[in-house]
Amino acid sequence: MTGRHAAVSVRREQSATRGGRMDPVRTCVGCRARASRSSLLRVVVRDGVLIPDEKAVLPGRGAWVHDTPECIDNALRRRAFVRALRVSGPLDTQTIQHIHQRNG
Ligand SMILES: [Zn+2]
Repeated sequence: MTGRHAAVSVRREQSATRGGRMDPVRTCVGCRARASRSSLLRVVVRDGVLIPDEKAVLPGRGAWVHDTPECIDNALRRRAFVRALRVSGPLDTQTIQHIHQRNG
């Protein structure tokens, strides 16, 4: 046993933010992939109803998901929204389920 500090963690992650806007990374609750905020859809719950927060302005806890039928469907099946949003009780997912079911 030598008392030398072998593991000197020299971390130089200064994440140089030169000239660029930081785009925070979030995890999609549908596919668990990480993506930049701007490429995900924020979803919030209001009065027990799951609603898309397209401008990401609504207060409260939000879940992030890719704005695709696959990821939204995945999240719904796995009840990922319920967990991410810490909802207790019934959750109305009609609105979310139908955002990709436009007529036409
Ligand atoms: Zn996804």
